[in-house]
Amino acid sequence: MKQILIILTAACSLLCGSSAACAAGIEKVAPAFWWAGMKNPTLQILLYGEGIASAEVSLSSPDVRLKEVVRQENPNYLLLYVDLSEAAPQTFDITLKQGRKTTAVPYELRQRTRKGGDIEGFTSKDVLYLIMPDRFANGDPTNDIVPGMLESKTDRTQQYTRHGGDLKGIADHLDYIADLGVTAIWLNPTQENDMPEGSYHGYAITDYYQIDRRFGSNEEFRQLVSQAHGKGLKVVMDMIFNHCGSENYLFKDRPQDDWFNFRSQYVQTSFKTASVQDVNASDYERRIATDGWFTQVMPDLNQRNRHVARYLIQSSIWWIEYAGINGIRQDTHPYADFGFMAQWCREVLDEYPRFNIVGETWLNSNVLVSFWQKDSPLAAPRNSNLPTVMDFPLQVLAGRAFDEETAEWAGGLYSLYDYLTQDLVYANPMSLLVFLDNHDTSRFATREEQTRDLARYKQALLFLLTTRGIPQLYYGTEILMTGDKGEGDGTLRKDFPGGWPGDGKSCFQAEGRTALQNEAFDYTRRLLQWRKGCEAVGKGTLKHYSIAQGCYVYERRHGDRSVTVIMNGTSQPQELDLTPYRESLPRTEATDVLTGKTVRLDGTLKLDARQSLLLEF
Ligand code: CA
Repeated sequence: MKQILIILTAACSLLCGSSAACAAGIEKVAPAFWWAGMKNPTLQILLYGEGIASAEVSLSSPDVRLKEVVRQENPNYLLLYVDLSEAAPQTFDITLKQGRKTTAVPYELRQRTRKGGDIEGFTSKDVLYLIMPDRFANGDPTNDIVPGMLESKTDRTQQYTRHGGDLKGIADHLDYIADLGVTAIWLNPTQENDMPEGSYHGYAITDYYQIDRRFGSNEEFRQLVSQAHGKGLKVVMDMIFNHCGSENYLFKDRPQDDWFNFRSQYVQTSFKTASVQDVNASDYERRIATDGWFTQVMPDLNQRNRHVARYLIQSSIWWIEYAGINGIRQDTHPYADFGFMAQWCREVLDEYPRFNIVGETWLNSNVLVSFWQKDSPLAAPRNSNLPTVMDFPLQVLAGRAFDEETAEWAGGLYSLYDYLTQDLVYANPMSLLVFLDNHDTSRFATREEQTRDLARYKQALLFLLTTRGIPQLYYGTEILMTGDKGEGDGTLRKDFPGGWPGDGKSCFQAEGRTALQNEAFDYTRRLLQWRKGCEAVGKGTLKHYSIAQGCYVYERRHGDRSVTVIMNGTSQPQELDLTPYRESLPRTEATDVLTGKTVRLDGTLKLDARQSLLLEF
């Protein structure tokens, strides 16, 4: 009997690649495998298969202890909790006995190949490059349509259909990305989104443990991370714990109705997540904001259910351990349960102390955003444990600041200065993600005419890459791609020119870019390459000065190295009295990194309209 089972299992492995998932009657085993020697010794193993709940469960291993078997209202699930504190790497059998029928599900505990502390998260020394995988490059046209998946076409003329981009497309252009000078890539979700339509963006996950086959395989994802590391690029993986896609088996054939909020019945979220931290909010509003569903096809997971919580936490740890990712970007962070999200961050950081997590905190003021950052005094005694939050208020201000005239008390660069004077609200301003745009906002160059104003572009990039925080660039910014949210989200996610076979010109090469694009690209590349070696900007403090004559001056300092930025925020030449800035101008001359020219710093300084200086000391 045992021999027959082994033969059957081997045959199954050939068919579907996962021996555990293929034991008779078992459709899913999640996670498919795990590791011995993890800090948290308890593992939840979710088994899914028709009618399996009536089985008696036993384990063949002497050192893996079965702590708890949980049955749900749906007879197609078994939730096992096992204790691995004494377990060595091994493959053991989970034996399911139903009457005279016995099924052995082999389960592998792998040897850890890295220690938790080996995983290095992203920090303010890094610059993230955000890529929407469906829209960056199509490295493998044969995976564009996968038979059996629900969306069965690609159409590059339509903004909401799939375009065919994939992991191979990203792998093929890692040299381009590394040469640009960014040090990390953040990919919009790559996990399976087997939905009938509109899921090219990846935010409707149908299997948390599976890379979407139109992007590639789990193994290709692991290889991409490894290749990226080889080129000095960290990788940030997007995850979504607030909701999943309605085609997810955990929703379609859910274990119990309490796995989803409002007992699995659609109630729309208000999107008004300010109510979470609003001391004046009603309980009703708070509940609708966090427990309401993102859309009808994105059911809202109930993270207060301990089985749901364990499933989600383990899925993130699985990807870190399996693929060696350096960070997670958590979607719609404030929409999920505060207590659960805090527990998740704590558990991940306990296991990987140098890891980083950035939560999407799309709120319109620094007070509201700061609430979500680890150790926020405004949230105390609660603590989100979330190290990095997104500086959306600064993104909005930066979108206007470089178009306006700067005056002493209003407009232009004043708004950036004024905002940064309020950094005391943040527990850790250096760990804010700063950005000009992302896949959900209008691009920094919203309209075509803005691409012709390179002074605007250059000042904005200089600010982004030298202010406090962790800068994030959106793919295509370096070649002046445009996008207006008013014309639909798909227009913010245009294909990178040259990413598809048959594209006429390729912007991956200088020859394919216009003169304007090359000027933007070269400027951005020079700044990014310079920033990599600049500890004053990567790790240093920020000191800034109030606006005078429409100019904004600030210093970044680490030890005895410093950088001082001087920006003319007006369309007139200015002659600036340097007296107020002496403490940030330690010498009477310095080299301007932007031009390589020596600048005299005694008396006054003449600046052309919209001119910037990047002085290194
Ligand atoms: Ca493809």
